Amino acid sequence: MSDVKKMFIDGEWVEALSGETRESINPANGEVLSAVAEGAAADVDKAVEAAKEAFYNGPWGSAPAQERAALLFKLADLVDANAGELAELEMRDNGKPLRETEYDVADTSACFRYYAGLCTKPMGQTYDVADPMQAMTVREPIGVVGLIVPWNYPLLMATWKIAPALAAGNCIIFKPAELTPLSAVRLFELIEEAGFPKGVANLVMGAGPAVGARMAEHPDIDKIAFTGGTATGRKIMTAATGNLKKISLELGGKSPCVVFEDADMEAAVDWALFAIFANQGQVCSAGSRLLLQESIHDEFVEKLVACAEKIKVAPGDAEGVEMAAMISEAHMEKVLRYIEIGKQEGATLRCGGMRLTEGELSKGFFVAPTVFTDTTPDMRIVQEEIFGPVLVVQKFTDDEDAVRLANDSIYGLAGGVFSENGARALNFIKKLRAGITWINCYHPTYSEAPWGGYKQSGIGRDLGTYGFDEYTEVKQININLEPGPVGWFEN
Ligand code: NAD
Repeated sequence: MSDVKKMFIDGEWVEALSGETRESINPANGEVLSAVAEGAAADVDKAVEAAKEAFYNGPWGSAPAQERAALLFKLADLVDANAGELAELEMRDNGKPLRETEYDVADTSACFRYYAGLCTKPMGQTYDVADPMQAMTVREPIGVVGLIVPWNYPLLMATWKIAPALAAGNCIIFKPAELTPLSAVRLFELIEEAGFPKGVANLVMGAGPAVGARMAEHPDIDKIAFTGGTATGRKIMTAATGNLKKISLELGGKSPCVVFEDADMEAAVDWALFAIFANQGQVCSAGSRLLLQESIHDEFVEKLVACAEKIKVAPGDAEGVEMAAMISEAHMEKVLRYIEIGKQEGATLRCGGMRLTEGELSKGFFVAPTVFTDTTPDMRIVQEEIFGPVLVVQKFTDDEDAVRLANDSIYGLAGGVFSENGARALNFIKKLRAGITWINCYHPTYSEAPWGGYKQSGIGRDLGTYGFDEYTEVKQININLEPGPVGWFEN
């Protein structure tokens, strides 16, 4: 059992209390990468005890912001010093191309640095209230916080939550997705090396319905920050009612990428491909619905399909790879089922539409870039999140029609628009019911700006100052500048 990747609880590397393990697989070739400890509810309980002790009785609760910042800066430096190893590990565990994991690691250290800097900046406010009173607010950590993330950006999703949670002074229990635990284990080794006090940051691995569900219902966890599917988000919200814990939810999407007839067509084709096929389409904010103005539809689709057919699909470390493996066989099967549904619904399959099995691809889970046209808004492939390399094209007549179709979704995570007319583009964006938007581009994301969705795409925001506030309580302090009796009762 010596090579089992362990959990990190109360400053110690430990096996699951049950002794159970799970294998982590490379989806590009099915190779077993590592066995990892498979935790359960009892391991969560142990981690919560450690986090409570660290928060209420350890040095963390009273550590000034400068000290928290210093540790986070050190962690960022350690991430950079181990960037190559982290990128390689993430590529093997997740299956995505190495050039993507290299970006993810760079974004990881940038995010730790952003929150390290932010937590030392002014936080509270003062209020001019009635004499002789002075009112002010301070921001305080929430306490013990549970963080649950998905597999599509394992290291980065972990960081978007761990960095602000620790910067704000909370103690955390972190749960990675069961399919991609390895970069989290390495990150926690770096957290240990950076020197965070014991119990401040705890790693518990295991299945969502066991570990995640226990975290969501745990009476001593004060907040859950979750990124994942909308159905799971709903379960977490329900489980969190027991102690009315605070929740923030980053959920799914079916986001529109809208191209007006006055757009730069070459550029828009290029961005539209990036919008859907980056990370094999396994991106919550993917531009999975392409809305084209009818006058440019045919020419645009022709160019887009020609480019999509040329995308190089290969294992993540192959020379010139542009798209790599899907996360798992089960997820690949789900995506292929949606492609069958699209055909049955009467959409026209323009390219892709199948698993790729030539040569070494047969050992892994690869799906060809897929484009459907002739869709209607009621089709399941237009309404449901596929979370794979499947683009559905819709046609619109004018600006009003574009807004109507773009907003015809239970989701409201993201959206992009392409037009050479700035006023037209901005008018469209202002009417789009979505939290993350782009004009003449798609996907650029920065630690500085808030990330999150409208409608069933979530509650709250990651990143930016909003993402920091999600991990704090606001305390109002009222000061009597003329101390003495109130004089309300005649005694
Ligand atoms: P998922 O909801 O199945 O799992 C996400 C996490 O929740 C995993 O760690 C899982 O173990 C855990 N989990 C599962 N059941 C649970 C339960 N009952 N209680 C508590 N935790 C539980 O999602 P996934 O398949 O890993 O990821 C894909 C989804 O994530 C997509 O819908 C995607 O849009 C979404 N996502 C959203 C964002 C965003 O920022 N909005 C970012 C990335 C991914």
